[in-house]
Order: sequence, then structure tokens, then C-alpha cells
Amino acid sequence: MSADTVMLAADQAGCDRAAEILRAGGLVAFPTETVYGLGADACSDHAVARIFEAKDRPRFNPLIAHVEGAEMAARLVRWTDTADALAGAFWPGPLTLVLPLAEGAGVSSLVTAGLSSLAVRAPAHPVAQAVLGAFGGPVAAPSANRSGRISPTTAAHVRAGLWGRIEAIVDGGACGVGVESTIIDLTDRPTLLRPGGLPAEAIDAALGQPLARHRSDGTLTAPGQMQSHYAPGAAVRLNASAPRPGEVMLGFGRVDCDLNLSPSGDLTEAAANLFSHLHSLDATGRQIAVSPIPETGLGRAINDRLRRAAAPRG
Ligand code: AMP
Ligand code: MG
Repeated sequence: MSADTVMLAADQAGCDRAAEILRAGGLVAFPTETVYGLGADACSDHAVARIFEAKDRPRFNPLIAHVEGAEMAARLVRWTDTADALAGAFWPGPLTLVLPLAEGAGVSSLVTAGLSSLAVRAPAHPVAQAVLGAFGGPVAAPSANRSGRISPTTAAHVRAGLWGRIEAIVDGGACGVGVESTIIDLTDRPTLLRPGGLPAEAIDAALGQPLARHRSDGTLTAPGQMQSHYAPGAAVRLNASAPRPGEVMLGFGRVDCDLNLSPSGDLTEAAANLFSHLHSLDATGRQIAVSPIPETGLGRAINDRLRRAAAPRG
């Protein structure tokens, strides 16, 4: 992949240009109060697939949808009184809320990694706010670094890792916090998923009760199941050249199949289609046979997801 990267000033003209690039499906790095984020239109499968490609990320973990504020968030998720109270107390700021995805939210299933919940956050950085305001919709944004590298807190860090792989970097100077956002799951009893820039004690105080926390063995201290990865209910068979009787076929390249990730063999297109195609085939209730996918670039993340879907479950 290659792209002509431009540096944009963190003024209104720069943020307007950033929004235009996002609308055209481009990738824009911009400062938040935690780290620099690598943003894409959260409603575009193709743009979000390019995030994983640019970062060289070997896994489709879910991304945080960045919003201007509670009003935009409430269009994407089923908003609750608790969400309203926490957003009222701490937004904009380093607090991410996981809530049930709203019907018709239009968010790419690559953002949720196929889950029925969505993580939303309103960043406090004025440049992030200006970009989101100019864009007018949710922006999916993990940290703007290559996978496995340190999170970037300056535009120079972003440049060093992503130059030539993304369309623009908005240079807003050094980020303040340098640590990631605190993530709270509100799909069930409020639960701390990841400690971060906002202390959990402050959230406990705002809630008037302590958050449930993960124990060190990874189990929850409170009842309520939390699913961090989408797995189809149906069995999955990998590296299939053709479906066996009773199977549905998820193809890649020029093959006869029920649904094709990319007839032309384009991995970005395949990534963009992955979760929606899996969901559609899963709905048939039949075993899913999948064509071989090359283990290069985005193919690694696609194969990682498919291998985990195919693994025997306990
Ligand atoms: P970040 O690394 O700051 O981009 O945050 C992304 C992290 O947010 C993911 O690795 C997950 O741990 C968490 N996350 C995002 N969406 C969800 C979700 N729908 N359910 C649970 N956790 C989520
Ligand atoms: Mg990161």
C-alpha cells in the first residue's frame, strides 16, 4: 500500500481538509488528549480496513468510535441513564463506553469486530474535536503507530511510522496524557475493561457504586457475560477448494461460492467484507467452507480471525 501523506496545520482549514479526506475514505492521524489516533470514517468498511493495513495489524480487534459528544454517540448505541451520567461527568475526556450497538447505526462491522456492542468516546483535545465537528460523524481511531510499536504522542512519531501509508497527519503538537482511555463496559453491570487515563475511583464515585473489575485470572468479579470476540455459531472449515454437501462457501478470488470476500483477490476488499459475510453465512446455520487466503498484509488478520472461528470451542 502507498499513499501521498500530507502534513496539515491544526487550524480550522487543516481540520476542514482532514474532514474532506475522511469523507473520501482516507486515513487521517490527529491528536487526542491520550495519544495520536489514526482515523477513518467509522461507517466505511473499506476505510476501516485500510486502518488495519496501514498499521500492519495482524488482528481485527474492535476499534473505538470517536464522537463529538453524547448526542452523536446516542445515534450509534443504545444510550442509557448510566452512560448519560458518565458522559455528563467525564466527556469530553479519556473515558470509553461500550454499549449495545443501535439498530441502523451504520457503523462498519470491522469497527466492532463483528460484535453487537460498540465502544464510543468523545476526546477532549481541541483538534480532535475540530476534526470530528467538521466531519460530522463517528471516526474509528486506534493509536497511530505501526503494530507492535510505541503509541505516538507527537506528529513526528506518527510520521516516522506511517509516512506514505496514510493520507494526512494533523500536527497538533504533543499529546497531554500519553496513556490510553479508561474503558467501561455498560452492556451489563458497569465493568472496568481497561484502566487508563481516567482513574477508576473517579468513575466509582460518579456511579455511587464500585465498578466490577476483572480478577487477575481473567474472570469477572460480577455475573454477566462479556464477549470480546465475535465467533460464528456455525462451524468453519478453512482452506477449502469447494464446499462439501451441506456446506456454504465463503470464497476469495475466482471461485464458485455463496459469498465472495473479493472476486478479484483484493485483501482490503476482503477485510472490508469479512464480518458481514460471516454473519450472513452464519445465518444459514450450515458449516462454512472458506477459500485459502494468502498470509500476506491484511491476509494475516483475516486468517487470524478465520482460524479462531474454526478452532474447536469448549
Ligand atoms: P484502543 O487500543 O485505545 O484503540 O482501544 C481498543 C480497545 O477497546 C480494544 O482492544 C478493546 O479492548 C476495546 N473495545 C473496543 N470495542 C469494544 C467492544 N465492542 N467490546 C469490548 N471491548 C471493546
Ligand atoms: Mg495501540
